[in-house]
Amino acid sequence: MPLRFLPKQKLALATILYWFLLLYIIAALLFWYIRLQEQSSQMANYRLMELVADDPQYLKKVEQINEESIRKTHQYRGEGATFLFIILVGAVFVFRAVRRQFKVAQQQQNFMMAITHELKTPIAVAKLNLETLQKHKLDEEKKDKLIRMTLQETNRLNTLTNNILISSQLEGGGYKLVKEDLDLSALISRLVMDFKQRFPDRTWILEIPDSIHLKADPLLIQILINNLLDNAVKYSPRSASVQVKLGRGTSNVEMSIADQGPGIPDEEKGKIFKRFYRIGNESVRTTQGTGLGLYLCKKITTDHRGSIRVSDNQPSGANFIVQLPNN
Ligand code: ADP
Repeated sequence: MPLRFLPKQKLALATILYWFLLLYIIAALLFWYIRLQEQSSQMANYRLMELVADDPQYLKKVEQINEESIRKTHQYRGEGATFLFIILVGAVFVFRAVRRQFKVAQQQQNFMMAITHELKTPIAVAKLNLETLQKHKLDEEKKDKLIRMTLQETNRLNTLTNNILISSQLEGGGYKLVKEDLDLSALISRLVMDFKQRFPDRTWILEIPDSIHLKADPLLIQILINNLLDNAVKYSPRSASVQVKLGRGTSNVEMSIADQGPGIPDEEKGKIFKRFYRIGNESVRTTQGTGLGLYLCKKITTDHRGSIRVSDNQPSGANFIVQLPNN
């Protein structure tokens, strides 16, 4: 069986190799410096031995030889130091690049695992629910429950495929942003209504004034809002409320979606918008996801010349604030 290394083992192996090579190069540099220094002083000694003591220029020649030897020492040190500096700068650069590369590879692997799971689960659940509906005569309440669960799974599938397709299209420049007049109040109300139906046990606190318009791409803004609502529901307990606010500034509109979950630690706040980034360790994580949602939210807001940030909600939870120019 071929020898296979896990990414962590590969990283450890690469790190050991890297340090070995770096130390070897530095040791070789030191070795050559010492050798050159020895050679230079040997040469100086030969030249001194060749001098004739009763030469009237004797003292001057000795001084010249010594000066030359000192100059050579300075030259070797200068050249050696420059060389060492270049090697160290290069080493830092390579070290960081390799680490980044491994991290991305690890995140992509996690993403592929997550996506396989995320695609298969809703399909399996929806199939099972539909088969149950087909085979058994169920009372209305059970039927409703199964239909609601199936709808939830297809919605999850819909969000996931939208995220994957749109993010790759936005990345590759295949999606052209089309700005048109958009009634944001109506869009948010409609999307929240969908969530209310999917999660009837939730409390929703809404502050959505009528007729807030902006110039934006409707599909992308819908994906943005859906991802934030999805996260608010996914990362907070069932009994906790979700707050959705919309407001108008002089030149922009502000939307915030806040939950009562565990919130986001300060050191993670800047990282969660990176592609494939998910907080915590893959082996201990309980929530499903791909790490694409917030990356897409950030991409969509910046493509609209807007911004997105996260702050702490009171008494607990995360509050995502989106600002978009209204034209
Ligand atoms: P996904 O939810 O698919 O993992 P996202 O890009 O939407 O990916 O989110 C990235 C990470 O940010 C999540 O894995 C989660 O750890 C964290 N996160 C996002 N939204 C919230 C929230 N409302 N509360 C707590 N953590 C959150």
